[in-house]
Amino acid sequence: MDVLSLVRENIKRLKPYSTARDEFMGVADVYLDANENPFPSNYNRYPDPLQRKLKDKIAEIKGLPADQIFLGNGSDEAIDLLIRAFCEPSRDSILITEPTYGMYRVCAEINDVTVKSILLTPDFDLDTESVEKQLNPSVKLIFLCSPNNPTGNLLSKKKIVELTQSFKGIVVLDEAYIDFADESGFVSQLASYPNLVILQTFSKAWGLAGLRIGMAFASKEIIGVLNKIKYPYNVNSSTQHLVLEKLHQVKEKNEQVEGIKAERLKVTDELSSIRFVKKIYPSQANFILIKMNQAKAVYQYLINERIIVRDRSAVALCDDCLRITIGTQEENKLLIQAFISYEKSIVY
Ligand SMILES: *Cc1c(COP(=O)(O)O)cnc(C)c1O
Repeated sequence: MDVLSLVRENIKRLKPYSTARDEFMGVADVYLDANENPFPSNYNRYPDPLQRKLKDKIAEIKGLPADQIFLGNGSDEAIDLLIRAFCEPSRDSILITEPTYGMYRVCAEINDVTVKSILLTPDFDLDTESVEKQLNPSVKLIFLCSPNNPTGNLLSKKKIVELTQSFKGIVVLDEAYIDFADESGFVSQLASYPNLVILQTFSKAWGLAGLRIGMAFASKEIIGVLNKIKYPYNVNSSTQHLVLEKLHQVKEKNEQVEGIKAERLKVTDELSSIRFVKKIYPSQANFILIKMNQAKAVYQYLINERIIVRDRSAVALCDDCLRITIGTQEENKLLIQAFISYEKSIVY
């Protein structure tokens, strides 16, 4: 499959902006090429446009070549760039499987790209048959999210593979929460799927949401297209520096992930004995989706207790559901106490 034939014609023809740092990549004594202020500070120089040091370290950790990595201002940047690279405005479309992360739809709509939406099955897995019925040559991208936000479950690996193999466009698999899952995700199998793009982020397990950095993994051809159309200096120097430091603390990250998973179990356990809680969906992420009586009232009650959760009750298949992030032990205790006191306040 020639994925580059899917790229928009104007993007294929585009001659990208070339930075001073693209033209000379070596080391020199005097840099008079980029109109920077010469007086040294941590930030007087432009950052590396291709974040090479960072990618080398990520390549080592993820076990894939650096030229198969794209870094962006959050994985949200990669979502936007993928749509702009492959979808002709007012002509092409993307397919999403709802309920899911809201940015796929928003990015498509901003770019005047049609969104075809298929519901997940009642147990939140892929409804492959309905998806395939919607596919036609205008559909350039399918967005899948596994573990899915806001439902927390992994999609069936077999269904992801089958869809990726049969689809004549690009499958974008968002693995923002894969560190919290029992399965390892698709990065190690990327070479088998030339039309697969995997998204991961530093915002969740790595604890760096404030720095705004996300990753896309794909064939070097697809990564080349993303690099061609991104802002030249899309990841700033302090972010590059701080993320590189963090990448030397994998052990701490893993310990935090294990702690969050243990808390996930505990919170699930405690809340499942509460009478107004109807269902706690099994989670492979750092949040749980909970169905209850009168979610909106519970949501308001929690706000009054100064606890903020995410009201998903208006979302497809999520009637009366709240999505609750797993916090610290202390925070989770406060959450559970609030649920208990609300239960006591209800007249049955
Ligand atoms: C949080 C989240 C992201 C992360 O986006 P960033 O821009 O990297 O912070 C991506 N996808 C999903 C499904 C998410 O929930």
